[in-house]
Amino acid sequence: MARLAQTADLTDVQQEILATVRTFVDKEIIPHAQELEHADAYPQEIVDGLKELGIFGLTIPEEFGGLGESLLTYALVVEEIARGWMSVSGVINTHFIVAYMVMQHGTPEQKERLLPRMATGEVRGAFSMSEPGLGSDVAGIRTRARRDGDSYVVDGAKMWLTNGGSSTLVAALVRTDEGAEKAHQNLTTFLVEKPAGFGEVLPGLTIPGKIDKMGYKGVDTTELVFDGFRIGADAVLGGQPGRGFAQMMDGVEVGRVNVAARACGISIRAFELAVAYAQQRETFGKPIAQHQAIAFQLAEMATKVEAAHLMMVNAAKLKDAGARNDVEAGMAKLLASEYCAEVTTQAFRIHGGYGYSKEYEIERLMREAPFLLIGEGTSEIQKTIISRGLLKEYGLKR
Ligand SMILES: Cc1cc2nc3c(=O)[nH]c(=O)nc-3n(C[C@H](O)[C@H](O)[C@H](O)COP(=O)(O)OP(=O)(O)OC[C@H]3O[C@@H](n4cnc5c(N)ncnc54)[C@H](O)[C@@H]3O)c2cc1C
Repeated sequence: MARLAQTADLTDVQQEILATVRTFVDKEIIPHAQELEHADAYPQEIVDGLKELGIFGLTIPEEFGGLGESLLTYALVVEEIARGWMSVSGVINTHFIVAYMVMQHGTPEQKERLLPRMATGEVRGAFSMSEPGLGSDVAGIRTRARRDGDSYVVDGAKMWLTNGGSSTLVAALVRTDEGAEKAHQNLTTFLVEKPAGFGEVLPGLTIPGKIDKMGYKGVDTTELVFDGFRIGADAVLGGQPGRGFAQMMDGVEVGRVNVAARACGISIRAFELAVAYAQQRETFGKPIAQHQAIAFQLAEMATKVEAAHLMMVNAAKLKDAGARNDVEAGMAKLLASEYCAEVTTQAFRIHGGYGYSKEYEIERLMREAPFLLIGEGTSEIQKTIISRGLLKEYGLKR
């Protein structure tokens, strides 16, 4: 995109990475996305290509074999990839969140053992908070781990694991009952190492098949069932039980920037498709782009793309500067995902009847956009986080 979604003050390295990814997206993702998505096929060749580019280790520090890049670089890469096909960004996102959590909260042993293999993509991460009975209300988690000597025995069901089957490391939030008064202080993150695949992959740990979804196809989304699953106490993230909620919230804060970036990528693509189509399709003797109603829609779409991109960049920069960005990440996620739903719908309408045909890319974007209103916390949950932060900041001194 020549004009829209530009980011000021990028380093030479950042520009080089983004140019490389953009070329990869144009050559290796966009031409294959429709076919793979319609077949719900895992994009193995694309994932292998991303491994070669070092994307799995993009934010992992150089001392652990990664590229040591910032959240901003990561978010801009995600924006580029989602412009090609959102499912591919889904393959790397949970991996990135888990790597971030291990970097921030892992013991030295966990970092040494996991990060170098995560940087190459040999170990691939998924993260699991949601359960069949809850998503927004994380503190109500029911899956339970009971201490038994040097290990824990885990029972319960988790839901909606992106990369549940293809990952080999799941950061799972479960109840450990630390005797704390507040429910969220009785939650612990376990680093569950497992083989990739479906079925009972370890004694007491089952990944049933893929959930059949409306969009976001190709990438596997699964349940995970613990039934007397035994795991060592050394698998507790950071070594100390009871800290899982805070660790996960830290992880979803970067995750929310990433969802905002995905929404930006899809919106950019929807705009690209619409602006091209509007200049080709003629009605009443002229290209539809020359009807003011359509031209104004393009103007609105581009403005939304630009606003969402700037908020996403702002939220990423704050986190990179070491600041808490809960409010800003929430705002960026809220605005970018809501705008994405609007921009894809506008692009769909500009395509007229052809937008409804599976031959046109816009029908896929229309099915992808709604997920962004839900994943990493719904719009209502973002508003809760934003308003809570604002009331704290602007609270009256009585
Ligand atoms: C394709 C896909 C992939 C996913 N991947 C993952 C993953 O990798 N890991 C993971 O842990 N989870 C994942 N999720 C789960 C996702 O995070 C949850 O679906 C999401 O947080 C919403 O939870 P829920 O579905 O239980 O909805 P609920 O929490 O039941 O909410 C239902 C509705 O009520 C509203 N609501 C809830 N509470 C309030 C409130 N206090 N005030 C106002 N409105 C409220 C919600 O906004 C929503 O509209 C995934 C989901 C999908 C669809």
